[in-house]
Amino acid sequence: MPLLRSWVESANAPDHPFPLNNLPCGVFSTPDEDPRCGVAIGDFVLDVTALEEEGLLELPGAPLLDVPFWNEVMEAGPEVWAALRTRLIALLAEGSGEKAAVGPHLVARDKVALHLPFLVSEYTDFYAGRNHAFNVGTMFRGPENALPPNWLHIPIGYNGRASSVVVSGTPVRRPWGQVKGPDHAVPAFQPSRRFDIELEMGAVVGTPSQGPVTVAEADAMIFGYVLLNDWSARDIQAWEYQPLGPFQAKATATTISPWIVTRTALEPFRTSTPPREVPLLPHLQEPGPMLYDIALEVGLTPDGGRETIISRTNYAEMYYSAAQQLAHHTTSGCPMNTGDLLGSGTISGPTRESRGSLLELSWGGKEPIPVDGGTRTFIEDGDTLTLRGQCKGDGYTIGFGDCTGQVQATLEDPYARA
Ligand code: CA
Repeated sequence: MPLLRSWVESANAPDHPFPLNNLPCGVFSTPDEDPRCGVAIGDFVLDVTALEEEGLLELPGAPLLDVPFWNEVMEAGPEVWAALRTRLIALLAEGSGEKAAVGPHLVARDKVALHLPFLVSEYTDFYAGRNHAFNVGTMFRGPENALPPNWLHIPIGYNGRASSVVVSGTPVRRPWGQVKGPDHAVPAFQPSRRFDIELEMGAVVGTPSQGPVTVAEADAMIFGYVLLNDWSARDIQAWEYQPLGPFQAKATATTISPWIVTRTALEPFRTSTPPREVPLLPHLQEPGPMLYDIALEVGLTPDGGRETIISRTNYAEMYYSAAQQLAHHTTSGCPMNTGDLLGSGTISGPTRESRGSLLELSWGGKEPIPVDGGTRTFIEDGDTLTLRGQCKGDGYTIGFGDCTGQVQATLEDPYARA
């Protein structure tokens, strides 16, 4: 599919992240207006809450956009998603007869504040990148035992905290926690010294389910995707993770990009998961390509310094797709809800430069990496970490908007009392 041309001229540039082909869903506010739903188009946000109020959207089941989150649209299902997209393309396409009615509802994107685009119902995070699991397993258990015996058969996951999810731009405070003491001495309670990122994609569940669903059904339930940074305190994680997995190490914050890029916008970029090393049981096999070719990068900017790109990789590196993860999630009968967020797991490529966490990039802190004239093993106070993602189409780009957060120095001992 080529670029869909719009009368919003900035949307037609081949490298602009928000052409008419994209139309990602966000929530924005201005100094004069409370948070409302918007769609990014070129250098603007289209106020779709206002369009619905004025009767310009003709959505079945309306009003769906009279709330500052996209959950009602998501729950309405794929037919409504398609109707909304078709209508927005008609309104914004070059030559549209409705330009005069729509124009007043465009707000300059540099004038708005962005909020979480949906109410996060529950948050599950997976461990489904082959290179990441192999790297981390090698560091902890040696290369022979790097992958747990279940790894090639199920996408391993844990139940995270929806309350940890924040929108891009939200500062992240270095956490305190309990860490292993030296030489099996008593543990210590201290600020994390090995605070890290995980480069992930987040899949946003649109329609709910009761009971097990197939991989194809799971794919159809997904409304769209965001970039996701699973902030991780490695020293806290190393002490707490056995036998039930990460807990406080992952509970400080989970940053997502502000725009949900819809599954429909990503259709041209579908690609298959890599070849299986052992066959999956039939209920987890992919009936078609369900990953996406999304180029990803991570930038690290020291406080007052210049950004260094520390990793470049691709979502297509994942061993399991979000559809496979979602299907697996339901096998027990676990109900899934509108607004559930599934983290892909850290996306690392096969090369050193394509690793998706500082744990891997610095190989457990043993091999510092160059950053803006200095080096890094883990995050230092004042560092800003930014995830970016894009798909390259025929004369256009699908962007996600930055997923960024600055790490702030820890507060004093939270249990110290004067
Ligand atoms: Ca993770």
